[in-house]
Amino acid sequence: MLKVAVVGAGVIGLTTALEVQKKLGHRVAVTIYTSDVSPNTTGDVSAGLWTPYLLQETPETDVMRWSKVMHDYIHDLWKTGFAEEAGISLQSMIHLITDANEKLPGWGNIAFGFTELTRKQLDQLGSEHKKYYAGGFTFVSFTCEPCKLLPFLQKQFLSNGGELIMRKVYDLEEFAGKHEIVVNCAGLGAQDLLGDKQMQAIRGQVARVRAPWQFNTIMEGENYIIVNMDCVVLGGTHQENDFDLSPKDEDKRHILNGCCNLVPSLQKSEVLKHMVGLRPGRPKVRIEMERKIVNGKPMIIVHNYGHGGSGVTLCVGCAKDACQLVQEGVSTICKSKL
Ligand SMILES: Cc1cc2nc3c(=O)[nH]c(=O)nc-3n(C[C@H](O)[C@H](O)[C@H](O)COP(=O)(O)OP(=O)(O)OC[C@H]3O[C@@H](n4cnc5c(N)ncnc54)[C@H](O)[C@@H]3O)c2cc1C
Repeated sequence: MLKVAVVGAGVIGLTTALEVQKKLGHRVAVTIYTSDVSPNTTGDVSAGLWTPYLLQETPETDVMRWSKVMHDYIHDLWKTGFAEEAGISLQSMIHLITDANEKLPGWGNIAFGFTELTRKQLDQLGSEHKKYYAGGFTFVSFTCEPCKLLPFLQKQFLSNGGELIMRKVYDLEEFAGKHEIVVNCAGLGAQDLLGDKQMQAIRGQVARVRAPWQFNTIMEGENYIIVNMDCVVLGGTHQENDFDLSPKDEDKRHILNGCCNLVPSLQKSEVLKHMVGLRPGRPKVRIEMERKIVNGKPMIIVHNYGHGGSGVTLCVGCAKDACQLVQEGVSTICKSKL
């Protein structure tokens, strides 16, 4: 049996490991090596809203394809009774645009009920929020909360016979001769692990509040109000190359003031906690195969990292592409052994 090592147990690592088990389970043994698991991954900070965001130059066709796969995956879990365990809710969303240059998103036909707001509706909301809205739309979509999804995925991985080893990996080449294929899903960790200078931390701070009267999600520029099962997540910030993991007072003020301007009743909400995560920013998501000879031994590395502000939205779609590369790697190894 071939041995596959996956580095990382965030949304990307776990969905990729599961996809490899699903497609190649009879031929490979999968081990995850990771410094942290949920609740200490980047995804645990996120409200898990299905919506592509902060993806820079990643081709739109890929973004659409990956997002659609995830949308179908979540919809299926929701329909088949796994919503609570996997942290999935279906809810109405409103997205307001202040920048006249911002275009309507290309993913409108994937989400349910995508509808542009009329000028009259925009002006009415604008007068309530004391802003001018250049555009906006409503849709019905999912939140898929990583703090519930990750334990759900991890449980599946382990019950499929996967092994999870908690330790930091300092060099992918250490797996040469021990695992035939290594899948790198280290997120921002790829910056140190590979010396990938294109990786960039995009700091995001949020406040989790108790506001059980809030049932719909609102996004407007940096500010958002996203409903989760046990709380409402108020955001946010996107600060490039800022590695500070402690909540900042000025960001707390920016988040609470901005969100209370959109929904004044949130002033009465109870702040449960402030949290910070570092999005794995990259000009382009990297899903690629690399072949190496290390100390005379062949080694195949499949990379799957750099998902910026959309790792939850893209994870299952990207896992399928990465798994396709693992399958190609396995075929090459099997042919070379004939
Ligand atoms: C505030 C905030 C809000 C967000 N909101 C959303 C949202 O609503 N929707 C959405 O789609 N996305 C959202 N995101 C983005 C999303 O959370 C990330 O894109 C996603 O979590 C990245 O997943 P990942 O698995 O690549 O990285 P991570 O979650 O960072 O996981 C990386 C894993 O690799 C391990 N690792 C790293 N280096 C090493 C090493 N050297 N050795 C061993 N293990 C290593 C880590 O321990 C971890 O397990 C948000 C992010 C933030 C910060």
